[in-house]
Amino acid sequence: MDVLTKKQRSKNMRNIRSTNTLTELSLRKVLWRKGLRYRLHAKMPGKPDIVFRPVKIAVFVDGCFWHKCPKCYVEPATRKGFWLPKLEKNTKRDKAVNRMLRKQDWIVLRFWEHQIRKSPEKVAHKIAISVKQRS
Ligand SMILES: [Zn+2]
Repeated sequence: MDVLTKKQRSKNMRNIRSTNTLTELSLRKVLWRKGLRYRLHAKMPGKPDIVFRPVKIAVFVDGCFWHKCPKCYVEPATRKGFWLPKLEKNTKRDKAVNRMLRKQDWIVLRFWEHQIRKSPEKVAHKIAISVKQRS
C-alpha cells in the first residue's frame, strides 16, 4: 500500500531534485574559482550539466537516486511499478548518451551526487585535469 500521499511524494521528489541542484552548484563554484569557464545545460545529447565546448568535455552530475548509484541507491519501497521502469529508463538513457557523445569525439565525465557532496574540490580537480589534457 502506498503510504505517501501524492502531495508528500511530490514534496520528496522536489527535495531530491533541489539537493542535486545545490550539489551541482557547489561544484560549479569550485570550477569557477579554479578559473575554468563552462557552459550550462547545453542543447546536446543528454543535456550535460556542465560543458567545456572547445575541448569537448561534457560533465554530468548524476543524482544518486535517479541514476541508481551503486553506493547509495535504495529501491523504492512503494509504487515499484511506477519507479522501477522509470529508473531503468534513466540508466539506459545514460548509457546511450555516453555512446552518442563519445562517437562525436566528446569526453564524458560522470560524477555521483555523493562524490561531489563529499568533496567538490576533488571532483573539480579531476575535471580540471581532463580539460588541461585536452587543451
Ligand atoms: Zn551515491
